[in-house]
Amino acid sequence: MAEETLFSKIIRREIPADILYQDNLVTAFRDIKPKAPIHILIVTNLPIHTINDVTAEHEAALGRLFTVAAKIACQEGFSEEGYRLIVNCNRHAGQEVFHLHMHLLGGKPLGQFFC
Ligand code: 5GP
Repeated sequence: MAEETLFSKIIRREIPADILYQDNLVTAFRDIKPKAPIHILIVTNLPIHTINDVTAEHEAALGRLFTVAAKIACQEGFSEEGYRLIVNCNRHAGQEVFHLHMHLLGGKPLGQFFC
């Protein structure tokens, strides 16, 4: 299992965060430095280092990231306008926190995304 990051402390509520949702598999909270009007992180409760480290055992948690993203987008009121989901992996993608998480970004037109 990967070493813990600050996200594990947020999940255990040892450090503060604006938590919107939590269940046995994932936790969702607002990003501390939002890059869009609404920027929410949905993290696996298990401290998986990167997407390179996922196995079949993680499939339930990975699927839950998507169902929770869709649920929160609906609650936040931008599901019809649209939103972007991003998972960064390692250095070239700019991953900063090595605890698997999905970014949910919305609340304005986000423009085209080019590789
Ligand atoms: P990454 O670049 O690893 O995909 O994204 C990490 C995200 O975590 C960044 O958007 C950053 O703003 C956010 N973040 C880093 N530290 C904290 C924190 O202590 N609390 C919250 N809520 N978000 C954080």
